[in-house]
Amino acid sequence: MSYDTSNIFARILRGEIPNDTVAENAHALAFRDIRPQAPVHVLVIPKGAYVSYDDFAANASDDEIVGFHRLVAQVAQSEGLSLADGSQGFRAITNAGAHGVQEVPHFHMHLLGGRPLGRMLQAG
Ligand code: AMP
Repeated sequence: MSYDTSNIFARILRGEIPNDTVAENAHALAFRDIRPQAPVHVLVIPKGAYVSYDDFAANASDDEIVGFHRLVAQVAQSEGLSLADGSQGFRAITNAGAHGVQEVPHFHMHLLGGRPLGRMLQAG
């Protein structure tokens, strides 16, 4: 699947639409999900054009991969989700493609927490 430059996260990265930024570094941006499904619901996205996690993991530079994951860790810490700080935990999810029910075709990781999240998958 080729990258669609008109997707909403590409538009956020170009500054065409606003976002509620939580943190940012040279390679990644973290912002609050517009339809939060938990008290903490932050999306972390790479600044580069990658469709899905496997695309990112295969094709991003080492610096991009490190920058992305360091921002995930920074957000987990700043949002009070880090186990190291005594949190009750969180969930990191990345959806890909039709079976993963990916709505926005720019790789993103959901960080969810602040309440018990239930089982990972529902039957069916
Ligand atoms: P996914 O199904 O993994 O592709 O999830 C896409 C997520 O992006 C959903 O949780 C949406 O609520 C969220 N979303 C869509 N548009 C925006 C936006 N403009 N700002 C923040 N989050 C958004």
